[in-house]
Amino acid sequence: MTSGTSSGTWFNEALYPDWGQRFKVVKELVHKKSPFQDIRIFESSSHGRVLVLDGIVQITERDEFIYQEMLAHVPLFMHPKPQRVLIIGAGDGGVLRRVLQHKTVEKAVMVEIDGDVIELSKQHLPMFGKDAWDDPRAEVIVGDGIDYVKKAGDASFDVIIVDSTDPIGVGDVLFTDDFYKNCARILSDEGIIVNQCGVPFQQADELRETTARRAKFFPHVTAYLAAVPTYVGGFMTLGMAKKGTPPHKLDVTELARRAREGNIEGSCQYWTPEVHVASFSLPPYIAQNLPRS
Ligand code: SAM
Repeated sequence: MTSGTSSGTWFNEALYPDWGQRFKVVKELVHKKSPFQDIRIFESSSHGRVLVLDGIVQITERDEFIYQEMLAHVPLFMHPKPQRVLIIGAGDGGVLRRVLQHKTVEKAVMVEIDGDVIELSKQHLPMFGKDAWDDPRAEVIVGDGIDYVKKAGDASFDVIIVDSTDPIGVGDVLFTDDFYKNCARILSDEGIIVNQCGVPFQQADELRETTARRAKFFPHVTAYLAAVPTYVGGFMTLGMAKKGTPPHKLDVTELARRAREGNIEGSCQYWTPEVHVASFSLPPYIAQNLPRS
């Protein structure tokens, strides 16, 4: 078995030293070293096209909707009126597309450090971003997320969505005090930030440390769940931090009304008002990683 390059071979994910998933590679589409990371996109026989960065699965055609819908729709439905959204990372374009589904959004700025991820995603993964790249409300910037938040104006965004790689390599800066301090500064009064916090069954430190850091700069920190098959190890946690009033415990009826009003109802394969509400019910092995509220 090799993390081979042509059909008939297998790709073995290099996330955990002693356990992991593998994909049967039908066709290698691109394998390139960018100035930031090793980028690989291949056609698999089980999950369609797969994007891999530094040997770690980022997204697959078959289950991308789960993560992207929960990362985008949950904070946008919880904010009273999200108009200005900042997306950090997310170079495949899937989060940008979901954000622009929301009619209240007037501006979506996406800051991705690796221009090659964007170009290769447009070329080999067009099903993720679709026409979001050409939406007049979208501004796509190739740059480091931490530099952008340091330069951005006070209260210039309502929601920040961080769809980054794990806290290793180029993604590490997006899990620091400096990053969260500036995110708190550039968010408006009821501002919300969400970011991927890993799979606690395997990566509990990531959730614990990230949440403890954000609790220094935000009055309200919590997390919610999404079951993403190719983020192996059970529930994926999405961390949420909020300024102003506590995160609204919106009921199913109100969420359904917002989804109907926003023409999002029925367009999702994972997010529903019921799934949204349930996703904040954390089992003890995950909840124990959050500061006692
Ligand atoms: N959903 C995936 C996950 O949870 O592992 C992440 C997918 S997305 C493709 C991750 C993106 O974050 C990559 O394209 C990477 O280049 C980008 N990224 C990593 N560090 C960054 C930084 N400091 N600033 C902006 N983008 C960054």
